[in-house]
Amino acid sequence: MKKVITIGSGISGLSISRMLSNRYQTEILEREDRIGGMIKCDRINGNLFHKVGGHVFNSRNQAVLDWFWNQFNRDDEFLKTQRNAKIFMTGKKIGYPIENYLYQLTESQLKPIVDELLQKLSIKNNQITDYKNFKEFLIGNFGSELYNLYFGPYNTKIWNTDLEKVPLAWLNGKLPMPDLNEVIYNNIIRKEESNMVHSSFFYAKRDGSQFIVDRLSNGLEISCSYNVSSIEQLNNKQLSINNQDRLADSIVYCGDIRQLHRTIQIADALLKEALLKVADLPSNGTSNVFCETDTNDLSWLYLPESTYKAHRIIYTGNFSSTNSEGSKRTTCVVEFSGKQEQSEMLEELKLLPGNLTALAFNYEPNSYIIQNETTRADILNLKTLLKPYNIYLLGRFAEWEYYNMDKCIEAAMALTKKEFST
Ligand SMILES: Cc1cc2nc3c(=O)[nH]c(=O)nc-3n(C[C@H](O)[C@H](O)[C@H](O)COP(=O)(O)OP(=O)(O)OC[C@H]3O[C@@H](n4cnc5c(N)ncnc54)[C@H](O)[C@@H]3O)c2cc1C
Repeated sequence: MKKVITIGSGISGLSISRMLSNRYQTEILEREDRIGGMIKCDRINGNLFHKVGGHVFNSRNQAVLDWFWNQFNRDDEFLKTQRNAKIFMTGKKIGYPIENYLYQLTESQLKPIVDELLQKLSIKNNQITDYKNFKEFLIGNFGSELYNLYFGPYNTKIWNTDLEKVPLAWLNGKLPMPDLNEVIYNNIIRKEESNMVHSSFFYAKRDGSQFIVDRLSNGLEISCSYNVSSIEQLNNKQLSINNQDRLADSIVYCGDIRQLHRTIQIADALLKEALLKVADLPSNGTSNVFCETDTNDLSWLYLPESTYKAHRIIYTGNFSSTNSEGSKRTTCVVEFSGKQEQSEMLEELKLLPGNLTALAFNYEPNSYIIQNETTRADILNLKTLLKPYNIYLLGRFAEWEYYNMDKCIEAAMALTKKEFST
C-alpha cells in the first residue's frame, strides 16, 4: 500500500484521511497536542466552548451530505434546527436578513431606504451588474442607505478590511443575490428567510463539532504535537518529512499556505517563486469570549454598530441542551475581529444584551482569509507545480478559500477523485 501523509487534523485532514484509509496507508501529523483544528471544542465547567465560531453543519451538495451521513446517524446523533438570527441595532432586535425585515426599522431609517430602493427598481434594467468589488456589489444591490446603516459597518467589522479591496470573485456563490422585487414583496407579506445556506442546520446532540472530530478520527493513525518543518524529495521520489523522520509517497497539506515556502525544500526555482508569491497573503484573527447569558431563543445576534467592538454573539447554548449543562442560564460566544485585550472584552460585555458573564477566552490568529485579485490564479499555479512531487493542497488555509466545513469535505472528495482514484 502506498503511504499518504496528511499534514493537519482539522476537518479537511480528517475527511481526506478517512476517504483514503481503506486504499492507502495513511497518517495524519498534527502540530498541536489535540486534533480538530478550528472545530475542536473545550468543556468549561461542564459547558461546551466552541473556541472558534459556533460550527453548525449543512450543505447544498448531496454527495457531501451522503458522505457525512455515512459517518453519522443523523436521526439519533444530530438535531436539525431552524436559524433564528437577529440584528441588534439602536437597542432593538431586527430580523435577519435585514432586507426581508425593513418594516421593523424606525420610520426615519426606513424612509430613505425605500426611496432609494424604489429608484433603483425603476432603473433596474440599466443597472450595472458586473461589480468590481464587495462594496460596489452591496451598494449596487441594496443601495447606499442600507449599506451605510448595516452592510458597510457589519462587513467592515468582520473582515477588518476596506471592502473596496475585496474582489467579488471571492464571494461568488457565498452571497445571497437579492432581487429588489423580492425584497419589496417579502416585506409586504412579511416572509421569513428560508433559502440561505445555514437557515436550517444540523448540530450534534452532544459535544457539537467536537463530536464530528471524535467520530471522523476514529481508527485513523494520528500523531499529535508533531510540527512538520521540512519536506524534501529523495532520489527514489519518495517524500521525506523532518529529515526522514517520516516517508510518504504523497502528502496532502492542510496547514497554512503562507508557511509552505519555509517547509518545502525542493530545488525548483519556479516552485520557490510560486511559494513566495503566496507567503504574505492577509488574514484576520478572531477573539472569543465564552459567556453565560440569560435564556433566549436566538441562534445568532449580529452587531453592526460601531458602538460595539464585537461583531456577533453565537448562542451555542441554544444549539443543544447538553451544551450548557454546567449553567443555570444558557451559554454563548461573543466574537470580535482581531486580537483584543481581555480587559476590553470584559468591558464590552457590560454593554451587550443578556447579562453576560465571562467563562473563558480564546484567540485564533487565522480565522478569515482575505483574497486579492490574483490569489486564485496564484494558488492554482502552485497546485500545478506541486503535483509532479505528489504534494497536494487541501482546506481553508491551504487553498486560501472561504470554505465552511462542508466545502472542506467537498474539496477532499474532489481531490480523492482526481488524484487518488487508482
Ligand atoms: C468564526 C468562524 C465560524 C465558522 N463557522 C462555521 C460553521 O458554523 N459551519 C461551518 O461549516 N464552517 C464554519 N467555519 C469554517 C470552518 O471553521 C473551516 O472551514 C474549517 O474548520 C477549516 O478546516 P481545515 O481543516 O481546512 O483547517 P484547520 O481547522 O485550520 O486545520 C489545519 C490543521 O493543520 C495543523 N497544521 C498546520 N500546520 C502544520 C504543520 N506544519 N505541521 C503539523 N500540523 C499543522 C493545524 O494545527 C490545524 O490543526 C467557521 C470559521 C470561522 C473562522
